[in-house]
Amino acid sequence: MADAWSPPDDLPLTSPSDVFAKCDSSRVDDYRAAEALGLLPFYREMASQSGPVVDHDGHRVIMLGSNNYLGLTGDERVKAAAIAAVERYGTGCTGSRLMNGTLSLHRELEEAFADWMGMESALVFTTGYMVNLGVVSTLVETDDAVFLDAVGHASLIDGARMSRGTLRSFRHNMPSSLRQRLRSWRDKHPDRGGALVAVDGIYSMEGDMSPVAEISAVCQEVGARLLVDEAHSLGVLGPEGAGVAAAAGIRPDLIMGTFSKSLASCGGFLAGPQGVIDYLRVACRPMLFTAAGVPAALGAVLEAQRIARTGDDLREACLARAAQLHRGLDQLGFAVGSMPPGPIVPVHIGGDWDAGRMWRALLDRGVYTNCAIAPAVPPGRALLRTSVMATHTEEHIDMVLHAFEDARSTLG
Ligand code: PMP
Repeated sequence: MADAWSPPDDLPLTSPSDVFAKCDSSRVDDYRAAEALGLLPFYREMASQSGPVVDHDGHRVIMLGSNNYLGLTGDERVKAAAIAAVERYGTGCTGSRLMNGTLSLHRELEEAFADWMGMESALVFTTGYMVNLGVVSTLVETDDAVFLDAVGHASLIDGARMSRGTLRSFRHNMPSSLRQRLRSWRDKHPDRGGALVAVDGIYSMEGDMSPVAEISAVCQEVGARLLVDEAHSLGVLGPEGAGVAAAAGIRPDLIMGTFSKSLASCGGFLAGPQGVIDYLRVACRPMLFTAAGVPAALGAVLEAQRIARTGDDLREACLARAAQLHRGLDQLGFAVGSMPPGPIVPVHIGGDWDAGRMWRALLDRGVYTNCAIAPAVPPGRALLRTSVMATHTEEHIDMVLHAFEDARSTLG
């Protein structure tokens, strides 16, 4: 057997000139300490499908930390569609969409999403993250600027960083702040470049909704294009579950959505004008240089979007469970803010370790939540992100509320 590799003498691993040196970080120390104390809420293994109740660590626990808002990951029709896609197309596309990876499923999905969003055209990507990465980085060139809400999703920020343009942020959910930032940028660059504004329809951690009608009015007033990310609203809000823009009665320039939440799969789409979609087909690097999504994912989402579009009963059940959860937690005195517009109910805790302890106490009482600490939320504003599914019952939520009450009294 060959000798184990060891670093050359002139490059000790702790040297600041070694790219690995940063890995010896306090973030990793905290991660290991939390793991040793049994308080690590990340990379937990699930031993069953993502239903309202899951197998975790040898126990059945209520899943209150998934984005499976309509409960479709376990729907027999969706599973059958995934299996049929595998039978017909095999397990992978083994190439980019540009070269050899485009299937008839892609075309069918693009037609379906363009129709659902009321847009001219649509483009299917391998993940939702890549939609935002690709759209922002491709449309925002050297002289352009992108304006993001201060708590906008990481994929939008990363797209902005990858672009050659300017990144500006505006105060969370404040159209007046957006107007001021857009105006001051335009005043400084009267004849230079264009502006793209991007907002999350529903914010992924806090669960609050963007005032998209006011944001859209500002964009029109100042002359900017608007992208609405419907990741957490698709299937749940608006007529036919088309999202917050549809609920507000506006038509943004671009709408993106992911397949990984209500649509029970993996992938994403952008819907917009034909000319923009055609440009992205030839210029967008996160489209050109990655493999197409796997057939099972595409088959599942084709069926899931059909069910979601007509699934008013699923939307109602999901929102009713969110209201029940919010009401109960509020009555118990948890800091849950105002009634959520969608399926996400944040429980504000504050310190990272307090959030970790509460997360563990809930898990010990049979409830799985998501623990959100920086950088997912601002430092010192850790929260437990809870979210419901249409397939949770009233009894599930009652059990969750008992667990919260009990966990809090144990922690003191
Ligand atoms: N946008 C938002 C608002 C999200 O919350 C997420 C995922 N959490 C994404 C985009 C990326 O989607 P995906 O995970 O499907 O890649």
